[in-house]
Amino acid sequence: MRVVLLGPPGVGKGTQGRRLAAERGWALISTGEMLREAAARRTPLGLEAQRRMDRGLLVPDDVMIELVRGRLGQPDAARGFVLDGFPRTVPQAEALERMLAERGKPLDAVVCLAIPEMRLVHRLTARRECPVCKRAYNLESAPPRDGRHCDDHPTVELVQRADDAEETVRRRLEVYRELTGPTVEHFRARGRLTEVDADGTPDDVHRRLAGALGGRASVRSG
Ligand code: AMP
Repeated sequence: MRVVLLGPPGVGKGTQGRRLAAERGWALISTGEMLREAAARRTPLGLEAQRRMDRGLLVPDDVMIELVRGRLGQPDAARGFVLDGFPRTVPQAEALERMLAERGKPLDAVVCLAIPEMRLVHRLTARRECPVCKRAYNLESAPPRDGRHCDDHPTVELVQRADDAEETVRRRLEVYRELTGPTVEHFRARGRLTEVDADGTPDDVHRRLAGALGGRASVRSG
């Protein structure tokens, strides 16, 4: 299947996308992750993206569209994919629909993860990730076992993403309302949108998401 996950920053797109992709053997295409990797490699794209990310602003549409076009052309994406973080604007949505139509492989589902907005700032500022495997934690709702290190990499200390500082979080939420809100409406107006309640534990949300996509959720222990 080809699935888009929409929803505000901090709603759990990364966590849910990663789990869904691993479970179903689909490629996980996270544009934020791709940009952070490019920034770590200090490529020209990465450095420019970093400046915008640090301010909570979006990277220009044409840059993002070409990045995703290239990624969708890679062989693993042919088995199906979950897009996390793209499209974030109406022009990105239109470009995505055009590029998939050209390949005769339209989207199967566009899912919006929804949560009351007041929950988000809190969720984002308490968010931490493993710098090695990128597994996401939340110091309040989903802490690591020892409170500091990744469960899968016990010597690696969790870090906060630079753009999860409170002021940047508020800017990212504003940008979401202004630019990504209309993207959600774009899909809703076409009868393409499925909404999933994302207020709950990662397991709860995974079950709802898997139900919305058809198929059973795997049950995780621990
Ligand atoms: P994320 O990890 O999805 O929260 O993305 C982190 C940052 O990367 C965003 O705040 C943007 O600056 C940038 N970014 C990621 N995806 C896109 C996109 N589709 N369009 C524009 N900017 C993006």
